[in-house]
Amino acid sequence: MDETSKARDELDRLGRSLRKQLVTLITDLTIRVHLRRLSLDEPKVADRREPLRYHYSTVYQGNRPATTTAAETASRAAFLLRAAGWDVTTSQEDDDGIHWTVLVAHRDGNGIRIMTSDDTPAVAFRAQTPALALCPPQPVQQSEPVRTPETITPGYVLCYECDGLGWCPGCGGRGWVLGQPHRRSRCRECRTTKVCAICRGEGQLHASGLSAYQLGYYPGLDRH
Ligand SMILES: [Zn+2]
Ligand SMILES: [Zn+2]
Repeated sequence: MDETSKARDELDRLGRSLRKQLVTLITDLTIRVHLRRLSLDEPKVADRREPLRYHYSTVYQGNRPATTTAAETASRAAFLLRAAGWDVTTSQEDDDGIHWTVLVAHRDGNGIRIMTSDDTPAVAFRAQTPALALCPPQPVQQSEPVRTPETITPGYVLCYECDGLGWCPGCGGRGWVLGQPHRRSRCRECRTTKVCAICRGEGQLHASGLSAYQLGYYPGLDRH
């Protein structure tokens, strides 16, 4: 099995484990449960940086029963999570005049966040797996130079920009470069054409067509 399908298996395993725990919590803590609202069927792109990373993630909002306080809901959630081996921390947060009790739980890299408040019957869940790279980073093009000193056409010189490679030296022939932070952006040298902008992919330049500036790259060239 290659690295990519191993990563996918691992991510699916984490996704199933997260879903199971979330379903237990939602059915225990809230009423009128609608599990169809959980969007845990397919991994989503978590991080557009190269290499692309994916995770399972979902939000769910339910209501606690009218007979249960927010504090009871929070302590029941903490009990269920700790019993299942999760690390749980509890804190208080104020948001838009609502006072929330917030539980954050972690296990195996999975995360669940539960918010409950006496100011509203709503119980909010947010859950996600870690983000894993599922596609190998695109390999740099490793093709042979299109021209070498041995294969150069008489009357031509090796392209000073790409040294005969033919592909764009700015991006390695990929058409894109890694910007900040590791985000793909189009190569400004070749404008995504992937070939050297000076020789247009030929790897060589006609000696008689060189500009005065370009001649500076070929000090040994016979000028006539
Ligand atoms: Zn070139
Ligand atoms: Zn380029």
